[in-house]
Formats: sequence, C-alpha cells, structure tokens
Amino acid sequence: MGIMTGKRGIIFGLANDKSIAWGIAQQLKEAGAELAFTYMNEALEKRVRPLAESLGSEIILPCDVMNETELAAVFSALEERWGKIDFFVHAVAFANREDLKKPFSETSREGFQLALDVSAYSLVSMTRHALPIMNDGGSIVTMTYLGSVRSVPQYNVMGVAKAALESSVRYLAAELGERGIRVNAVSAGPIKTLAASGISNFKEKLSIAEQRSPLKRLVTQDEVGKSTLYLLSDLSTAVTGEVHYVDAGFSNNAG
Ligand code: NAD
Repeated sequence: MGIMTGKRGIIFGLANDKSIAWGIAQQLKEAGAELAFTYMNEALEKRVRPLAESLGSEIILPCDVMNETELAAVFSALEERWGKIDFFVHAVAFANREDLKKPFSETSREGFQLALDVSAYSLVSMTRHALPIMNDGGSIVTMTYLGSVRSVPQYNVMGVAKAALESSVRYLAAELGERGIRVNAVSAGPIKTLAASGISNFKEKLSIAEQRSPLKRLVTQDEVGKSTLYLLSDLSTAVTGEVHYVDAGFSNNAG
C-alpha cells in the first residue's frame, strides 16, 4: 500500500524521459497511483506512449492545451473510463524561442499572448474541464520557476507567464477550497529538458544554480516528483495556494 493507493489522476506535459513530468509520474506510480497521460502531437506520442505503458497506463490521449475540444475530450474519456479523478498535474509551458533571446521590450503581442495562453491560461481551462469529475478533496499541481518573481536573464515573457500561473494558483485555490480541492505550484530549479533547451544560456543558469544554492548542486526530476507527490497526497491536506520551492535553496540565497 502506497500513499496514493486508490487515487487516480492525469499528467499533462510528458514529452520524453527527461521531462519533469516523467520524474513526477514515476514517483506517483511507485506510491500506488493509477495514471493517465496526454501527449501534445503525433510526433510526441511515439515517445510518450511507451513511457506511459511502462507504468501500466492504459489511458493515453492527445491534447494540445490550446484546443478546448481536445481538453473536453480528455476529461470525458476519463469520466467514461474511471468516473471520477483525484488529481491532475499541469507540466506544460511554451514561448517562442526568439522571445527568449530578444530584449524583453521587443516581445511581440502574439508571442506574449501565446506564452500566457499555453503556460498560464491552460491551467484555468484544464481546471474548469476537470472540476465536474474531480472528487472533493482532490489536488492539482502545476510547475513554475523563480523567473516569476525575479527578473532572470533571458527568461523574459516566460517569467511573466509564470507570474500569471502562480496568481492563477492562488485564485483557483480560493475558489475550490470549499470543496476541499487544493491547488499548488512547485517551483523547480533548472533541469535539462526539452523546454529548457529553448532558453538562451541555459547552461549558465545551471552553473549559477549549482554554485549559489546552499546545497551546492542541481535538483533532479525525481526530487521535483517527490514534492509533487507530497502535494498530491493526503500528507499535505492543509496546504493550498502555495508555491513550493524545490531548488536546493537557491531562491533564498542572495550570495
Ligand atoms: P518538457 O519539454 O519535457 O515539457 C514541456 C511540455 O509542455 C512538453 O510535454 C510539451 O509537449 C508540452 N507543451 C507545450 N506546448 C503545449 C501545448 N500547446 N499543448 C500541450 N502540451 C504542450 O520540459 P519540462 O522542463 O519538463 O517542463 C515542464 C514544466 O516544468 C513547464 O511548465 C516548465 O516551465 C516547468 N519548469 C521547468 C524547469 C526546467 O528547468 N526544466 C524549471 C522550472 C519549471
């Protein structure tokens, strides 16, 4: 018996075995959760399907979070198969590569809207679609980064999107508290993933985090997975609307 035994939920944002979503999925599975997954497009399906199947998942569905019809289809498929769910994980973000290179003031209107739409609004619409089938006492976790509260070089519009995401977490938590549904964010230190490869000078961010964090090292997908597991489980039943830092202490260290 694990702490997630008897709980069912879905993970959005698995792309490959380097994804933060993969670290989360493995921890949840080990703790006894039953998992469903989505993939963004056919190219990613080839990578996502075998990973999901290796964890015993049978529900693996397409979902571009910009597409309301696909989002609705995901939750109606879950209702058909499972009836109710207990949690979901939002590990999705996107910004145009050029918007992470140019000076921030040169961000285009379209680039700004796209980053906010995929990376922040998607949590709101995903929650709306999930609510009718979410058990009271359920839990929602999204992934964020320190660039939401500090100007991190080159993080640019993604920092603004993460600020909107973290604010959305607080508003959703306030709204859903009555049902005992909790909403939290995990703020991860830099990890080499597909999404991270779009951020200019990412290597430099890794080396700064390693040097300046109190623990003098980077964090792993598994560590982000363990904190997410805590937030999705009954170990954290009084925690909601929070941003939980998993960054080896970096965010608190001015040195
Ligand atoms: P990743 O590339 O493995 O995951 C990003 C996911 O977003 C991919 O699965 C991609 O398919 C999905 N995605 C993008 N646009 C989408 C769309 N329109 N519809 C559906 N899915 C879409 O990279 P990751 O680093 O694991 O990112 C997961 C989350 O963690 C993101 O929110 C990211 O901002 C956050 N995060 C990452 C780091 C890091 O250093 N890697 C640090 C803190 C937070």
